[in-house]
Amino acid sequence: MANVLSKNEQITTIFRHLKERVPHDVLISCPEWAEKRRYMPKKTTRKPGRFSFEDAPFAREIADNFSRNSPVREFAVMKGVQLGFTTSVIENGIGYTVDVDPAPAMFVFPTDQDCKDYKERKIDPLIDGSNLRHKIVAETENRNTRKTGDTAQKISFAGGFLKFVSARKSNALRSADIKYLFLDEVDDYPDTLKEQGSPIEIATKRTDSYANVCKICYGSTPVIAHKSKIYDLYMKGDQRKFYVPCPHCGKKQELVFYESNGGLYPDKRGIVKDGALYKPYGLMFDTAECRAGNFDSVRYRCKHCGKDFEDIYKKSIEQEGEWVPSERSKIPFFRSYHISALYSLTKPWWKIVSEFLDAGNDPKKLQVFYNLNLGLPFEDRTGGVEYQTVHRLKDDSMPNNIVPKEAFFLTAAADIQRDRIECEIKAWGNNYRCWGIDHRVFKGDTSDLYDPCWQELAKIGDEVFTDGRQIELMLVDSGDGENRDVVYSFCDLYGDGLFLPLKGFVSTTRTREKWKFSEIKEIDGLSLVNIYVDLYKNSLARYLSQAEPLGDNIPDGWFTFANGYTDEYFRQLTTERKVKVKTPGGLIVTKWEQHGRNEAFDLNVYNLAACDIIIYQYSVAYLGLEGANPRAVFEYMSLAQGTNNKTEA
Ligand SMILES: [Zn+2]
Repeated sequence: MANVLSKNEQITTIFRHLKERVPHDVLISCPEWAEKRRYMPKKTTRKPGRFSFEDAPFAREIADNFSRNSPVREFAVMKGVQLGFTTSVIENGIGYTVDVDPAPAMFVFPTDQDCKDYKERKIDPLIDGSNLRHKIVAETENRNTRKTGDTAQKISFAGGFLKFVSARKSNALRSADIKYLFLDEVDDYPDTLKEQGSPIEIATKRTDSYANVCKICYGSTPVIAHKSKIYDLYMKGDQRKFYVPCPHCGKKQELVFYESNGGLYPDKRGIVKDGALYKPYGLMFDTAECRAGNFDSVRYRCKHCGKDFEDIYKKSIEQEGEWVPSERSKIPFFRSYHISALYSLTKPWWKIVSEFLDAGNDPKKLQVFYNLNLGLPFEDRTGGVEYQTVHRLKDDSMPNNIVPKEAFFLTAAADIQRDRIECEIKAWGNNYRCWGIDHRVFKGDTSDLYDPCWQELAKIGDEVFTDGRQIELMLVDSGDGENRDVVYSFCDLYGDGLFLPLKGFVSTTRTREKWKFSEIKEIDGLSLVNIYVDLYKNSLARYLSQAEPLGDNIPDGWFTFANGYTDEYFRQLTTERKVKVKTPGGLIVTKWEQHGRNEAFDLNVYNLAACDIIIYQYSVAYLGLEGANPRAVFEYMSLAQGTNNKTEA
């Protein structure tokens, strides 16, 4: 019976065996690891010593996503500056991987240069400061380098490695299977790598073989909203915000910046909403005093009790903060976080206010302020139109297909899609006053000139509107190849200068005119209208965004639309955005980008061009001028119409 163990002894034995087989720290979380094992050396921090989340309390939950027992697989952090994201999140993830959960890992940087600096500056102190140097093993793959296991692009350790890769090198991105993936400053990554997809896609694909246990961490300060990768990732997740308690009432809330002018912030705080006046809250300041260099007025106003508190409370309230999801995640095990520099314990609030005031109304500086401080993507609203802005132009008192008395002439434009023709008729008055008369869609096979959709379009040429008016010109988009021949044939068939094919171009620095005629070789006597769409888009965006006229003082290019226009039409007017892009040569240029269906926008552009062609024809044919003179034409037409109206009366 000597071999029979008591129950207690059995349990002890089992535990001893377990302990031997499973490392004792297998269930240690990433934040626990950081607090217990990581030491911050003097040269990397102003506060050397044991690592602490005290200066970045919000980072604790984010870092915990790396823990082996956390179910989270992917997480995205959209952030402002000076929040210690790399130090408190990514580096803790790296230390945890090397020490607790050795596995293949990859750290992706926006450029080669970032890669090189980073390892020496940050990773070496991390390895040494966490006593992990002994875990770094000899590297065998790199024959030509020192056999230290520690080369510029890679460190190897028992059970894994960590590669440092540039987002611009597709070969490096796809070279190995990865369990831990760190993607930092993703908004600075290139969108795509020569026909191989986006660097983010290439890199995340490498985690497929670790599908159920991988950890992918995305971080970045955002850029322009519709171009921001981190914003897209943020929207896919559960959109967590960091709630901190008010020192007065104790109620928790997200810290936000208050703009007294209601300006560009998405929800206009302190503005009448649904009939009730919402009290302003957020980071407040006295603009005049701050401009004079006195920032004493800077304080935070609680959303719940309306009382103010100062910067010095920030640290203590953040220790009690918690992340609160605002949406359901669209991807399982995916979390997303947004945090602004208002939470930074190294950047005081007055500094943020000062940077806001410095930005003034300069869109470039405001973008930087939004990105870096608020951690929010920025829309340059001068380069596009908002839905509310265009929807207000719908004139409820004006039915479709009625031409107002003040109108001088009618134009039309057609956009050809594979399965339909979209067409719009406009009336034009003094100084480019424009009435949207009707928007029509003819379904059919547009590749067949004998399809009824083309006859429907042709009929508009004969249609008689109010007071016997008819269209004077219709421009038909000949597109880029597919529909070209059928559009040419259509214009030739119904011709007589009433229907003209058009083709859009982007202007160059030498472009002077917004449009010009060119000959079509295939068809004798038919001209092609070349229009510089970007120039027209600039005018159109300006016209559609301008303020309501006061009294009879109607501005140039005042557009309205009949009451039968659909919401979808107005939505399509907002899908074109003007953005700043960097050319391969490093020049910053602005260009228009399309986001979603934009036929309505194009129809307005083509009609504007049609209006200009008519003005040109009147200038030359009726007024005997050498070129287009809109003022002279409008004056002539006003006089002519005045005479007509008198005759009628
Ligand atoms: Zn309060």
